[in-house]
Amino acid sequence: MSSPWDQRGDGERLRGILRAKRDGEALTPEQCDWLLPRVGRQEIDDGSLGALLASIWFRGMEPTELAAWTRAMVGSGGRLDLSGFDGPKVDKHSTGGIGDKVSLPLAPILASLGCVVPMISGRGLGHTGGTLDKLEAVPGVKTELDEPSVLKVLRETGCVICAQTREIAPADRVLYALRDRIELVESLPLIASSIVSKKVAEDIDALVLDVKTGSGAFLTDIDRGRVLAQTMVDLAAASGVNASARITWMGRPLGRAVGHTLEIEEARQVLVGQGPPDVTELTRVFAADLLESQGLSDGPEASSGQIDRVIEDGSALERFERMLRAQGATGEELPIAPDVYRLRAGPSGVPDPGILGFGDLREVGYAVRDLGGGRSASSDIIDPAVGIVWQVAGGDRVEAGDLLALVHHRGGRGLEMALERLGRCTLVHPADSGGAPTESPFPEPPLLIERILPQVP
Ligand code: URA
Repeated sequence: MSSPWDQRGDGERLRGILRAKRDGEALTPEQCDWLLPRVGRQEIDDGSLGALLASIWFRGMEPTELAAWTRAMVGSGGRLDLSGFDGPKVDKHSTGGIGDKVSLPLAPILASLGCVVPMISGRGLGHTGGTLDKLEAVPGVKTELDEPSVLKVLRETGCVICAQTREIAPADRVLYALRDRIELVESLPLIASSIVSKKVAEDIDALVLDVKTGSGAFLTDIDRGRVLAQTMVDLAAASGVNASARITWMGRPLGRAVGHTLEIEEARQVLVGQGPPDVTELTRVFAADLLESQGLSDGPEASSGQIDRVIEDGSALERFERMLRAQGATGEELPIAPDVYRLRAGPSGVPDPGILGFGDLREVGYAVRDLGGGRSASSDIIDPAVGIVWQVAGGDRVEAGDLLALVHHRGGRGLEMALERLGRCTLVHPADSGGAPTESPFPEPPLLIERILPQVP
């Protein structure tokens, strides 16, 4: 027997959905399954969709509603067919930050340890750089791949880092573009469903999520970070993906390099065991979480030994270079902007000696954008060769005249504004003559703040 919902015409169904969400009711699975494929096929007008997104923004979504919405987002397209691949299929997602290049070494490390890593990544957003933009700094590398090409790279190398294909969660592509245009990106249910739908459509067995908090993160408030992490982990688990998240600290740049080419070089350093301690630690921890979740290692010590082995014998680096070649790398050298400004501490206003801290870390991301290494509009072309290499880390003792950073620029473009930003965000506080701060105003939680596991039965 057909229900009243079945007997309605499309216009009435759409208006019913808009009214329900406007009035704070939860959408039903039938409503989600009707709507989202049509969103993916671009059959719903932007006015209606904008109204619906705004209602979701203000009303939120209940857990079962969000699960149905996310399932329908996945169902708006196809899934990668990884059935022909041996080994656990795994991936990682980060909510993004300053200098976050962890995905770049992580994918080849996991591939060289027997995992299959179909990593769908994003572009730079706001003050953060995107993994796809970083990868495209390598001459010739392509990240917009069709599904046969994704599978070919995976067969050749065990890992691929690429953009969402046409088939994967097309409803997300439409909704995300609209959310971006109408300032409705930062809604927790919309972010969670967007990220998880793409990961579930990759047909993976396990997922780790890096949810960043601190002034360089999108969610500066740790409580919102926790809610997002728990929501994503539960949504992924409900779709059969073994998921866990870590809340990590983004109150300092991650590593020394910020800027596309510079970050590729730093990723290579991680792969030969010479990366900065924080990037190395995050890479190893996420690799270990995935290896353990898939039974490829029986604890942190065993994982650590496995990761050491593929770094020491060169196989992780070889896997990275193989992936780049499979994605089109020509082997030409990476361009690094030859003009370098040496940013020094002080002398005026700098306690001598002092302890270095970071204020609003978004300024570092915007400084790279000023230099030409980021986008203000989605059509802007990125200059991958510019960026910043920190010579000191947060918490280090500095004296007036000490070198803080090398700022790679192109003929002075955007340099003045970038330096102004860096001056605003680097803070130096008095230390006693032994180098200890007299008082530290810097909130410095550990890099790994907490781990979030699924709560669903
Ligand atoms: N990244 C995504 O893929 N989706 C969002 O909504 C936000 C960040």
